Amino acid sequence: MARSDGLRSFEIRTYGCQMNMHDSERLAGLLEEAGYQRAEAGANPDVVVFNTCAVRENADNRLYGNLGHLLPVKNAHPGMQIAVGGCLAQKDRAVITARAPWVDVVFGTHNIGSLPAAPGARTGAAAGPGRDRSSRWSGSPPCCLPAASPPYSAWVAISVGCNNTCTFCIVPSLRGKEEDRRPGDVLAEIRALTAEGVLEVTLLGQNVNSYGAAFGDRQAFGKLLRACGGIDGLERVRFTSPHPRDFTDDVIDAMAQTPNVMPQLHMPLQSGSDAVLRAMRRAYRRDKYLAILDRVRAAMPGAAITTDIIVGFPGETERDFSATLDIVRQARFAGAFTFQYSVRAGTPAAAMDGQVPAEVVRERYERLAALVAETSLRENMLLAGREVEVLVADGEGRKDEATHRMSGRARDNRLVHFAPSGAAPRPGDIVTTVVTRGAPNYLIADGVPVAVRRTRGGDAWQARRAGQAGRAPVPVLLGMPARGRPA
Ligand code: SF4
Repeated sequence: MARSDGLRSFEIRTYGCQMNMHDSERLAGLLEEAGYQRAEAGANPDVVVFNTCAVRENADNRLYGNLGHLLPVKNAHPGMQIAVGGCLAQKDRAVITARAPWVDVVFGTHNIGSLPAAPGARTGAAAGPGRDRSSRWSGSPPCCLPAASPPYSAWVAISVGCNNTCTFCIVPSLRGKEEDRRPGDVLAEIRALTAEGVLEVTLLGQNVNSYGAAFGDRQAFGKLLRACGGIDGLERVRFTSPHPRDFTDDVIDAMAQTPNVMPQLHMPLQSGSDAVLRAMRRAYRRDKYLAILDRVRAAMPGAAITTDIIVGFPGETERDFSATLDIVRQARFAGAFTFQYSVRAGTPAAAMDGQVPAEVVRERYERLAALVAETSLRENMLLAGREVEVLVADGEGRKDEATHRMSGRARDNRLVHFAPSGAAPRPGDIVTTVVTRGAPNYLIADGVPVAVRRTRGGDAWQARRAGQAGRAPVPVLLGMPARGRPA
């Protein structure tokens, strides 16, 4: 239970999308501020937090299975407390309380900030099992240094919630209307992060292009990108997710004219059929989407563009699906996260006529995945011979038999596996090398000189590693890929 140093310990298990990963970082930071420490490897923590996802299929079964496994552990360790938060908790609070009464705290997506107080409140008479003891979060998320991200890279939320009503998405009903943080708070958080050694930030919102609507500045997102350009030590700025409906030229100009904003765009398409987009309540059409890509490429010729696509939305015909294949060919995506539509209770699409049979969805999905792989391979092969600057990553896996390779992300966010030619760089350092081969999902740089630039990010990685000798690894992340639906 308590760590060998006598401190109370915690473990966070995260499911789902990047917003949940970010929320878990906040939770970890808040728990550490409240005096908890990460559980040591193999130890039973004093507090186990499940940060759940309602988007992913079978999320609830997995949660209840894991809660069931924890019951005998908790019985053997009476001080243990279990908290369940996130989207599924927001949606199914009563069900969780009924099915797993040994859960101590259920908290929603709006009151993460008060979680550290909740476990400590357990002994109070009013703090019965399963009770949500925390008040609704209001205002900007607290500034907290991420605890689970590598120390050279961080996520920074600029907004929470979403004003759109995409019919396949549960986010609006769970996370509520969009609330924007003030630009000054966002920039202060980024400055604090860079002071700690962070080189790269990803600005995070369900729809970053509507940032500023809440405080009456429609150009706020472009201004925020430009302001990031003035932060000392901040080398890379990314963002996710943009929405084609709200994407304006001032953002493209800001991207192109701000050197530390990376030449990369991950913009969800979801379908290439206007009829399906209409049924999804996505308020743009294929021509508008393609026109944005044209303008992005005109302003940033080397930009890598990736997307999300859902296959088999209710009512999708073979002709609609062909329109999606057609736009994938035209858009020259560097990669795409592709999803097979399946019913999500609580979404408008779940009640729509024309649900597509699962075998048809699967067959279309396989055709789409093959085309995406072919397209991204072709785009990646064009990069052979190109010099790339790579931020070395901690833990992105090597590929094939070349065990000596290290990995990292190029400026355009492509994954690069490279063979160091001299002293090995540290995660968080930046190397410059030359691409020797493109593969469907990554680039290879073998047998070429690699110039290493040691950075403050590498120093921060080294310092954290030295300080964490013997500690448990960061929580294992389960579920959706890095940039998945919804967005
Ligand atoms: S898919 Fe994205 S834009 Fe649409 S409702 Fe969900 S979070 Fe909002």
